[in-house]
Amino acid sequence: MSAGKSYRLLLVSTPLGPLGSGVGGGVELTLLNMLDALAQRGHCIQVVAPQQSHLPNTPVITVAGSPQIPAQTQTRQTPIHLPENSVLANMWWQVMTLQSEFDLIINFAYDWLPLYLTPFLDTPVAHLISMGSLSDAMDQIIGQIAEQFPHTIGVHTQAQANTFPFAQHCHPVGNGFNLDRYQFTPTPKDYLCWLGRVAPEKALEDAVTAIDQTGQALKIMGHIQDQAYFDQIQAQFPQANIDYLGFLDTAAMQAVLRYSRGLLVTPRWVEAFGNVVIEALACGVPVIAYHRGGPAEIVQPGQTGWLVEPDSVAGLVEAIHKLPEIDRQTCRQQAEQEYSLTAFAQRLEQWFAKILSQPST
Ligand code: UDP
Repeated sequence: MSAGKSYRLLLVSTPLGPLGSGVGGGVELTLLNMLDALAQRGHCIQVVAPQQSHLPNTPVITVAGSPQIPAQTQTRQTPIHLPENSVLANMWWQVMTLQSEFDLIINFAYDWLPLYLTPFLDTPVAHLISMGSLSDAMDQIIGQIAEQFPHTIGVHTQAQANTFPFAQHCHPVGNGFNLDRYQFTPTPKDYLCWLGRVAPEKALEDAVTAIDQTGQALKIMGHIQDQAYFDQIQAQFPQANIDYLGFLDTAAMQAVLRYSRGLLVTPRWVEAFGNVVIEALACGVPVIAYHRGGPAEIVQPGQTGWLVEPDSVAGLVEAIHKLPEIDRQTCRQQAEQEYSLTAFAQRLEQWFAKILSQPST
């Protein structure tokens, strides 16, 4: 329980799809982590999310409507778009009607509309930006709000902040996890894992090439966002020892992940954080990641995994050979020290206090 002030918070989910579907990527777990972290400190929380959203033990105000197109599938110049009967617009209509009951609204959408609406709302909005710079229109509106409403732009890592022209106005909050949901496993079985949305920016093909060259097995888990992309990888590596297990809930996913020798994290883009990195460490699984974006701020080379020159499959292969040098207990310890729910809640409370102490909000 928090010794400080207790806040009434309205969490507004991603408009990409229902919570629990995997369509929203890491944002879904981030929202759940934030909910758990803040609830255990005594804050009063409500969640607004697209229809068919599910959260364990928490009622959700669900809203109907059509989803947004993911920003990472668009170009930098693609104009801002909203479908007919937009779930994003409908959720923010709900926010307008509920706002007076809350001290702070927390936006999880990587979308223009909630940023644009911020000056028109009476209740302040904290925007947790879940990706790096992808679109000129988004950069412009986020930068505008960052100046007009100081401290309201939260990011996960400094590497993510550095992709924006207004990096110095971003407030990094990391992330935090309910570590009880991940079971430490000292002795691995003989396979590696790859987790996440199956989409080109995640470069699954690099992980498959590397395991193929080392003769390892790879278990893949996650939502297939781009089926043609996955089909192409399977066609390109018919002989590779890969096993796609689907999108699993956290309990089922960690039951596989925890026995792996290592997790391969191969993003082509600047990953804002990389939830899967902490999920692996929490199980005692070392992480091999490209030296780029959020994972490069988390992995401690030689201690909790290896950082590899970006886009270098040879680097991945070399690191796979060096996995036995990593102590799995040290991996779990790093997750406990830096990424517990309590550590996350403290960072969030500091962020909220800064926003709410501004005279303009
Ligand atoms: N995930 C999951 N089940 C799976 C595979 C992945 O729940 O079978 C979740 C994982 O817990 C993580 C998310 O998918 O929260 C991927 O998030 P990440 O931050 O790694 O990347 P993003 O999709 O946000 O780019």
